[in-house]
Amino acid sequence: MPTTWTYPDQALQDELRKIANAIVAPGKGILAADESVSTMGKRLADIGAENTDENRRKYRQLLFTTCPTLGDYVSGVILFHETVYQKSDDGTPFVELLKQRGIIPGIKVDTGVVPLFNATNEECTTQGLDDLAKRCAQYKKDGCHFAKWRCVLKISANTPSYQAILENANVLARYASICQANRIVPIVEPEILPDGEHDLEKCQKVTETVLAFVYKALADHNVFLEGTLLKPNMVTPGQSAKTKASAEEIAKATVTALSRTVPPAVPGVTFLSGGQSEEEASVNLSAINSFQGKKPWALTFSYGRALQASVLRAWGAKDENVKAGQNELLKRAKANSEASLGKYVAGSVSGTGGDASLFIKDHAY
Ligand code: 13P
Repeated sequence: MPTTWTYPDQALQDELRKIANAIVAPGKGILAADESVSTMGKRLADIGAENTDENRRKYRQLLFTTCPTLGDYVSGVILFHETVYQKSDDGTPFVELLKQRGIIPGIKVDTGVVPLFNATNEECTTQGLDDLAKRCAQYKKDGCHFAKWRCVLKISANTPSYQAILENANVLARYASICQANRIVPIVEPEILPDGEHDLEKCQKVTETVLAFVYKALADHNVFLEGTLLKPNMVTPGQSAKTKASAEEIAKATVTALSRTVPPAVPGVTFLSGGQSEEEASVNLSAINSFQGKKPWALTFSYGRALQASVLRAWGAKDENVKAGQNELLKRAKANSEASLGKYVAGSVSGTGGDASLFIKDHAY
C-alpha cells in the first residue's frame, strides 16, 4: 500500500486531460510521421530517393502543407526530433504549419530498442530515459504537447517472457510519469509485433497480459490516466498464421482484450497499423468501432505506414507530384476518420498503395 502520494495539481490535470481529449475528438486520429532518419531512409529508398536532410524535409513539407481540411481528420502528428526544427520553403516552421491546421504537434522521445541480456528470440527494451525530463521540457517550450515511446514485444513459443513484459511495462510507466511532470501527454505504446505463426487467440491472450502489466506499472508510478493515451496493436493472427481472421473477428478479439485491461479513465486508444495494408487498417478500425461491446474509450488511429504508403508512391520524390501525394494523404485520412466512427465502407477509397501488405519483418521505427 502506498503510504504517501499526491495527485497532480488541478491545473496540470486539466491541461493533460484537455490535450488527450482533443487528440481523440470524434472522427479524428493521429498521423505518425516520426520515422527515424534510418527508417525514413528506407521509405525514400523504396521510391528511388536519397536519404538526405533536404529530401526528408521536402517529404515532411508535403505532409504538413496539405490543405487545412487535413485538420478535420487529423488531430495530432508525431514528429521526429529533426522535423520539430525544420521549416517550409517560405520559412514557416513545421510546428507552425500544423498549428495553423488545428493539429497538435507531438514528439517521439524514445531513442530506440536494445536487446535484453540473456533473453531469447531477441527480446528487447527501449531506451531514452536518462535525459528525458530535460528533453520533454524543451519540446514543450518548442510547441509539442504529446509524446510517443514505443516498446516492442515478440510472440513465439516462449515469448514474450516475464522479463520482457515486466521491464517494458516499467519503462513505459517511467516515461509516462516524466512526460506528465513536464505537461506532456504520454502515448503509451507496447507494440506486440505481428511476426509469427500464432493464431488470433494467442495474440489476444498475450495482448491482455501485456496490457495488464502496463496498467499495473502506470498505477505504481502514479500516472494520471485521464492524461494518457494507449497505442496498442490490434489483436490479429500472426503474419504467417495458417488461418486468417475476418475484420469482425479481429474487432471482437481487440475490444475484448481492451475491455479486460484498459481502465475507463483512459480517454482513448490510438491503434498502430503494424504492417496492415492501408485498406485493412481502415476496415479493421471501422469494424472495431461497429462492434457491439463495452467501449468506454475513443478508438481511433495513429498510423504510420497505413497513412503514408500511397502518399510516398504518388509523390515519388518529384516536385511536380506534391499535390498528388497530398491528395492521397487527404483520402486516407478521411477514410480513417470514417473508420474511427465505424462508418468506413470497405473498398470505398483506393490509393496508389492499393491493398499491398506493408509488413516489415521485425519492424523498427
Ligand atoms: P505503423 O502504423 O506503421 O505501425 O507505425 C505507427 C507507429 O508510430 C509505430 O510506433
